Amino acid sequence: MSTFYLTTPIYYVNARPHLGHACTTIMADAMCRYRRLAGDRVYFLTGTDEHGERIAQVAAAAGKSPQAYADEIAGVFRDTWRRLGITNDDFIRTTEPRHRKVVQEILQRLHDAGEIYFGEYGGWYCYGCERFYTEKEIVDGKCPDHQTALTFIKEKNYFFKMSRYQAWLIKHLEDNPGFIQPDRYRNEVLGFLREPLQDLSISRPRSRLQWGIPLPFDDQYVTYVWFDALINYYSAVSDGRERTRGLWEHVEHLIAKDILKPHGVYWPTMLKAAGIPLYRRLNVHGYWSLGGSKMSKSVGNVVEALQLTDKYGHDAFRYFLLREMNFGLDASFSEEALVDRLNADLANDLGNLASRATTLIAAAGPAAPVGAPAEAADRDIAVAAADARAAVEQAMRDFAFQKALGALWSFIGTVNRYVDTSAPWALAKDPARRPRLERVLCTLADSLGFLGIMLDPFLPDAARKIREALGRSEPPALEAAVVGQLSTVPRVSKISGLFPRIDTKTPRSGPLPKGERESSTLSPGVRGQGEGSRKIPITDFQKVELRVAEVLAAERVAKSRKLLKLTIRVGEETRTLVAGVAEHYEPENLVGRKVVVVANLEPATLMGVESNGMVLAAEHEGTLSLLTLDKDLPSGAKVK
Ligand SMILES: [Zn+2]
Repeated sequence: MSTFYLTTPIYYVNARPHLGHACTTIMADAMCRYRRLAGDRVYFLTGTDEHGERIAQVAAAAGKSPQAYADEIAGVFRDTWRRLGITNDDFIRTTEPRHRKVVQEILQRLHDAGEIYFGEYGGWYCYGCERFYTEKEIVDGKCPDHQTALTFIKEKNYFFKMSRYQAWLIKHLEDNPGFIQPDRYRNEVLGFLREPLQDLSISRPRSRLQWGIPLPFDDQYVTYVWFDALINYYSAVSDGRERTRGLWEHVEHLIAKDILKPHGVYWPTMLKAAGIPLYRRLNVHGYWSLGGSKMSKSVGNVVEALQLTDKYGHDAFRYFLLREMNFGLDASFSEEALVDRLNADLANDLGNLASRATTLIAAAGPAAPVGAPAEAADRDIAVAAADARAAVEQAMRDFAFQKALGALWSFIGTVNRYVDTSAPWALAKDPARRPRLERVLCTLADSLGFLGIMLDPFLPDAARKIREALGRSEPPALEAAVVGQLSTVPRVSKISGLFPRIDTKTPRSGPLPKGERESSTLSPGVRGQGEGSRKIPITDFQKVELRVAEVLAAERVAKSRKLLKLTIRVGEETRTLVAGVAEHYEPENLVGRKVVVVANLEPATLMGVESNGMVLAAEHEGTLSLLTLDKDLPSGAKVK
């Protein structure tokens, strides 16, 4: 068993929780759940940063004492994380005595060791960031973060001799490539260090600011908020409790890139000077952009995270954040993109698999032991599961949530295709094939059991529902995530509506013959019921313009299992449409074919490709067949 201690930044209480906070906290939660699943000893810390000028100002503006104001906002953060199902083990506030005590001890130790001196400094200061900016960092005379004017401040303060650690830190970063990851951020810190490193002002005069931790060696000064805040990671686990013993040497931090410099430069030099072991690793993620502007803890443009989770569910919100962002890079957030992911990945791929598989298994009833041996197709599923698990393990070493989820969705796609090709609904019609049916259902139950474990860190609610449907009440464990050992068809309860599809204003209308849209929510045998029972007048049919079209080019749509992008000619006109036939036709086999299309559909965008029309196809029990002509007619010919 290894030990894993992970921190989020402590969030500054000048603002209520927003998407940026939620993203970091959800990533940390997914990582901690994963490490618990793997059997590790885990300690997950979050909290709030409550001192400093901005808090004093915001509290004064609200007519409150800074403490009362901080209490209120810290409460909002706590409640938010509780509502989002965040599994933090501790929540530290920098106004707590346990923290204040450690900050003062470290200050005293540094002062005694001659690491702190009294001096005067004049510089350009941003009140929003609560830090000085060097000439190099200033952009057009403004704060690079806030784009607001800076103020020149000259005052006597205490300074930490950070400059003397510059050469040491450069060497440490060069000798320990994994100290800051991804690599781009290590390089960025090395970039800062190419310029002379200044000493760090660690105090503010009390005449100007009351709201902070008093320096133990001069009560006319309070501690600079960054120096105070960074120490939380250490103070939270240095209280001598059994629960926190032995954690510090395993600490890893997770931050967004806006606070790289304090974490990548100030913090390691502070630890080094204080004789405290360094953190193991700093993990840095990018920004979410929204309407073209970045979102950080200090710039507005806030999405009310809670509103979206209430609207679409915690799992869908988590999934989007973890899947859409390539760890370390920026990503763009929109409600539409969230809904697309929800519909395509969750409702369609995962939701349909859970629903189809449990419906089929429940209909057949339990069986033990299964009569037929595993065939190649069943063994392929076991191999795919082992591959997916290995890929998840590899990805999670580097916080690459998007890769972990990509691997699991590739497995889900494999199992969906296995359902189509093994056609259990057809096997069920033939009593002689009952043993084979049982083997297929056993493989499906096994695959669901695997997903009920592997999805737990990412989609905790859905994973629990899957486990419950399979009657599994034991806590999930990574070591049990193996496919191919089950030899019974368990009793299951049907799962329906694991992720209900969201109707969008511009529906993904048209271009899909089935598959991507309603797909196989029901088992195929059930799907057709009720269809075609309603009569329509011929005038309704005449609204639909059907034409013969020639396929000029065909290619797969990136990241889509089902979609092909077709370039077609309809008479004189060339246009693009997207068809959900990728699982049934190779693109090269479609070129030159004449097909039938609905020519007068409103355009729709699917996976980023605009589709103008819809190809007609017939579908039965997982087999799909394009409508073609039995005599050659020119493209553009009317179909009626
Ligand atoms: Zn600023």
